[in-house]
Amino acid sequence: MDEIIKNYINGRWVAGKGSGTFKSINPANQANVIGVVTKSSGEDIDNAVEAARAAYEKWRLTPAPRRGEILYRAAELISKEKKRLGGLVTQEMGKVVAEGLGDVQEAIDMAYYMGGEGRRLSGETVPSELPDKDAKSIRVPIGVFALITPWNFPVAIPAWKICPALVAGNTVVFKPSSDTPVCATRLVEIFEDAGVPKGVLNLVHGTGPDVGEYLATHAGIDAVSFTGSCATGEHLEGLCGSMHRPISAEMGGKNAIIVMDDANLDLAVEGAIWGGFGTTGQRCTAASRVVVHQDIYSRFINMFKDAASRLRVGNGLRKTTDIGPVINGAQFKKILNYIEIGKNDGAKLILGGKPIAKGECARGFFIEPTIFGDVEPGMRIAQEEIFGPVVCVMKAKDIDDAIRIVNGTHYGLSSAIYTSDVNKSAIAERDLDTGIVYINASTIGAEIQLPFGGTKHTGMGPGEAGGRGGALDTYTKWKVIYRDFSGRLQKARLDR
Ligand code: NAD
Repeated sequence: MDEIIKNYINGRWVAGKGSGTFKSINPANQANVIGVVTKSSGEDIDNAVEAARAAYEKWRLTPAPRRGEILYRAAELISKEKKRLGGLVTQEMGKVVAEGLGDVQEAIDMAYYMGGEGRRLSGETVPSELPDKDAKSIRVPIGVFALITPWNFPVAIPAWKICPALVAGNTVVFKPSSDTPVCATRLVEIFEDAGVPKGVLNLVHGTGPDVGEYLATHAGIDAVSFTGSCATGEHLEGLCGSMHRPISAEMGGKNAIIVMDDANLDLAVEGAIWGGFGTTGQRCTAASRVVVHQDIYSRFINMFKDAASRLRVGNGLRKTTDIGPVINGAQFKKILNYIEIGKNDGAKLILGGKPIAKGECARGFFIEPTIFGDVEPGMRIAQEEIFGPVVCVMKAKDIDDAIRIVNGTHYGLSSAIYTSDVNKSAIAERDLDTGIVYINASTIGAEIQLPFGGTKHTGMGPGEAGGRGGALDTYTKWKVIYRDFSGRLQKARLDR
């Protein structure tokens, strides 16, 4: 690839000011460079923030339905590009092609859904306690948003943030993961083609600690929306808190599936395979723990091992591949290190556990689908986010024990239960302390029309996707208006 991938600032594609480039690498084949990308300097970020500030006044006064129409156009353009963009997701991030297409579909769905919000964005009108006076609340934009995104959904997550931010009347400076800058660039090109005015959406490339942190703490930013690891998110929460700056931080997970003794086991095994190994375990909602009723534990382990050993690992572009590579060398080492930790801590390695260095896999970052059995809830592999194809299976005595194990981590994104007993499903629904609970379905597969997010160290609760109670609450603030048309001084609570 000869052309350098540039920043997008104030409606122009511009190279960073003198700080060099970095490469985006195909994780399935390290020799395949997907793009050479400009690095942003402080001056580039200053320019992007200044452009977003300058564009804000006009954009916030643009009628919301007009803003929504631009999102509809973006949705149509992304739909036309779906195949090409889905293939790019696979090449740059590694997920199998069906999932790459799914990543893009999520962006399409979000753009249509938030386009519709342009004609809703409703507040409340309530009666005043005084005559000739009205009282209402309205949603208003927050201002200039810094959007910081991870690599695992390189099209969907940026769209999850850009669409609600824009429809609500905010302007944006977007810093994508430095592992997936090309997907981010193609997405921004589409928004440009859809008619987003100059300065409303800006893109700056670079790594987190320099570009991301400079942006998040920039004096010209009003609010931050971050998705990524707990370590980064909590660091940014600290910085933003000290600046009195709103931040939405959606962070890691240690999600679990409960399998009760009355469950449809075939279905539960399928769910555990999809949740544990889909996207190579690199979803924030990945089912990295399976908590199984002790009476069916051995049967479940045998069935799960059998199904996982049939998974085909390889380049995600091949239609027959079930599991692609992990994202990069650092993540590859981290996952293998966790496998060693699991063995040393006494968990039983049931399947996998090694890197794959044969054939085409030798060129990328591939790890065998790995299952640990006899995992104790307190072990590090049962507590910490591994973010790879590693599943820990644990035993539970009954539903209460299973729920206690699931709730016993400091994460709280997604959980699931397989049971045919409606009462147990109701208890799980009530007592599982996660932002999302699935009944007889795996931990992954959230739909964009409902809020998304988690509890405890995963975040402050569902703050993305959905409308009210989700993304609209993240990307707007409330203003309350009282209008007195009596022509005299009326005193609330006193004039009765
Ligand atoms: P990460 O925290 O390393 O990086 C996320 C983003 O933050 C990147 O753009 C990165 O460049 C930037 N960044 C890093 N350090 C920064 C700093 N000091 N200041 C500002 N920005 C900084 O996470 P990742 O490895 O890209 O993504 C994987 C993580 O994301 C996992 O923990 C996963 O669970 C989480 N995730 C969460 C959700 C959710 O909705 N809860 C969704 C997807 C992924």
